[in-house]
Amino acid sequence: MRHKTFPFFIPHRGCPHQCSFCEQHAISGQEIPVTPQDVAKTLSYACANGRLTSDMEVAFFGGSFTAIGEETVRAYLTAAFPFVERGDCAGIRVSTRPDAVEAPMLSLLKQYGVKTIELGAQSMRDEVLIKNGRGHTASDVRSASDRIRTAGFSLGLQMMVGLYGDTRCSDARYTASELCALAPDFVRIYPTVIVKGTRLASLYASGEYVPMAFDDAVEVCADLLALFSAHGIPVIRLGLQDSVSLSANRVGGLYHPAFRELCETVLYKRKMESVLSEQMPGHYVVWVHPSCVSKAIGHQRKNVQLFQNRGVFLQIKPNPNVSVGSISVERSESIAVKKSGNPRV
Ligand code: SF4
Repeated sequence: MRHKTFPFFIPHRGCPHQCSFCEQHAISGQEIPVTPQDVAKTLSYACANGRLTSDMEVAFFGGSFTAIGEETVRAYLTAAFPFVERGDCAGIRVSTRPDAVEAPMLSLLKQYGVKTIELGAQSMRDEVLIKNGRGHTASDVRSASDRIRTAGFSLGLQMMVGLYGDTRCSDARYTASELCALAPDFVRIYPTVIVKGTRLASLYASGEYVPMAFDDAVEVCADLLALFSAHGIPVIRLGLQDSVSLSANRVGGLYHPAFRELCETVLYKRKMESVLSEQMPGHYVVWVHPSCVSKAIGHQRKNVQLFQNRGVFLQIKPNPNVSVGSISVERSESIAVKKSGNPRV
């Protein structure tokens, strides 16, 4: 399944509650929701200029799409559906709340070419959902996921790490394993970022909310990547996307522009530790897929430095025969002997 989207933002439209952490205007950088007329005009222009392609889904993000009222849902979908019918795009994707996907709404979405529904689950602990003003329960996430799958849509689930009341690493692992049990087609993971003007920002200012330590969040998100991967569930996003608006409104929390890469570096560190723990101090070459060299080395050579402090000197090199996420290790002396041939992987 491809995840190229042509996104439209409808900040907070349809949201019956104000979640503690959410400020969609700041996150999306968009003050006013697009109108159905904007959607039709923008898609026509994008189509004419080759920016809308047949492998993309037109997406409505940033609000609770299925809770904005049937008439408005129809108006947005009517604007986008002709492009689906003509094959200019692959379908429509919407993001919404778990308590707003009843059967009649699902039929309506089906009728207008919606292929994918993303649900904001955020946590699978009811006490955390209450504390953060979500207005739905973990059981709503389970039943909504079931209805979406049964109706034949692709299902995406979003979770957060380090929410108010959810700052232990074990909480994130629990939510992730509950999401795995729902067999989504993909997930998004959002470490909690504190945005100006939210209730979370007030709780943070008063000292009532203490965010998870950044390094712990990186370790636990690395665990989540490994867990979802073991279940064959792609993580299509880890961490909020950088934007001018987010930078201007961020007051703390778990943010890094390359959050996912930090987690992948941890996974490479763990792999190298498991292979090298039996080895003597010395010099080794670690072969990784060419796209993964910088992740394996780590930001500011973190992984290389860590092993060097243990007397293990690493050269990390690209090899297209090594799959993404895997490693192959050889003592560097043996590489020197076979330098004219390809290393075994
Ligand atoms: S998290 Fe989702 S449901 Fe909550 S306020 Fe933001 S957009 Fe609305």
